[in-house]
Amino acid sequence: MTTTVTLEQEMNPWEAQAARFDFAARKLNLDEGLWKVLRSPSREIIVHFPVLLDNGKVELFTGYRVHHSVARGPGKGGIRYAPDVNLDEVRALASWMTWKCAVVNIPFGGAKGGVICDPKKLSQGELERITRRYTAEIMEFIGPEKDVPAPDVNTNEQTMAWIMDTYSMHMRQTVTSVVTGKPITMGGSRGRREATGRGIRVVCVEALRYLNMPVEGCRVVIQGFGNVGSNAAHLLMEMGCKIIGIAEYDGGLYNANGIDIHALVEYRERNSSIVGFRGAEAIESANLLTSVCDILIPAATENVITSRNAAKIQARIVCEGANGPTTAVADEILADKGIFIVPDILANAGGVTASYFEWVQDRQGYFWKEEMVNERLEEILKESFADVVHYAQTHDVNNRIAAYMLAIDRVAGVIRQRGFYA
Ligand code: GLU
Repeated sequence: MTTTVTLEQEMNPWEAQAARFDFAARKLNLDEGLWKVLRSPSREIIVHFPVLLDNGKVELFTGYRVHHSVARGPGKGGIRYAPDVNLDEVRALASWMTWKCAVVNIPFGGAKGGVICDPKKLSQGELERITRRYTAEIMEFIGPEKDVPAPDVNTNEQTMAWIMDTYSMHMRQTVTSVVTGKPITMGGSRGRREATGRGIRVVCVEALRYLNMPVEGCRVVIQGFGNVGSNAAHLLMEMGCKIIGIAEYDGGLYNANGIDIHALVEYRERNSSIVGFRGAEAIESANLLTSVCDILIPAATENVITSRNAAKIQARIVCEGANGPTTAVADEILADKGIFIVPDILANAGGVTASYFEWVQDRQGYFWKEEMVNERLEEILKESFADVVHYAQTHDVNNRIAAYMLAIDRVAGVIRQRGFYA
């Protein structure tokens, strides 16, 4: 698919997205016009805004919000805070949201946001001021019927509460459905916090069944122990899987008999790191990725499985909890090795699916029991998994390309039928 690319191109998420998109679009025989429309984001907002820091100085911050497509419904997607977030990354993430919402067939388009900042170096007060000012800057482009942000890397329920409040102050009324991933006390949905992890569990179990592998005793390695990784770990452990490795940015843990995830979560809460946990041996995170296991779950950020380590991956299944953890070049290497991929736009769609439920509940003003959220989430993820593997079989493509083709076809169908406003 991608023959000669430089390392820089390989590591650029936008290029990675475009490589898969082009391949899938070609397979679909997508006409040239729609190809151009869907390859490009529909709107890109860049804002530079001042924030008063605790030391009395003013700092200028840069934020992005990209709408990739709003053809199937309002834009949907998280906001990430990171020192290295850039426009190409946000563009890629926005497109992945379009495909993700289409794969699970929920009525949203795709969007994403980012603010260049290092949350580790900012106080709560500074984070609040950054969030509120960023919200004010993108105000006219978001809204329950326009674009509905949510948490992503380094943002959380508190961030969503500030966005909801800022937006509501300007609207002169409380508008809970402007964001999802809010605290339950103010219109958040039960089950939303664990939803991405829950979705991962569903697709892992489906993949094991599909490959005739037992769930009980299945050896799992997880990279990233944030919201996605830690919830996936504990939910998979509940099913009888053994979490033999956890890789974090500051060190990894290995225990062939399975790590006690509850104990690890408690340890991390006390020590703000998994390093030093006594229930497992310390191991370098890079070595964990290439260790022998049944399922490898990259659950942090992009570019974790690349041309540099793909040939060494020994997992039978790679289930992508993060967005874009595998580069397009690495895809081919994993395919040659016969590794079964559950692609990001399917694997981590549990989060946005529960966000959809939250948006529906907010608009109805009627809130569901957690069992109902979980049941409906599991149903959607199971069906979507079956759709993707069926598409892969019947079109003779791998799971990732199948997911893209399914998604592109759904979005293109809607655009064609809506027609072109002139
Ligand atoms: N940030 C999550 C994702 O990448 C959730 C997005 C949402 O709920 O809108 O899927």
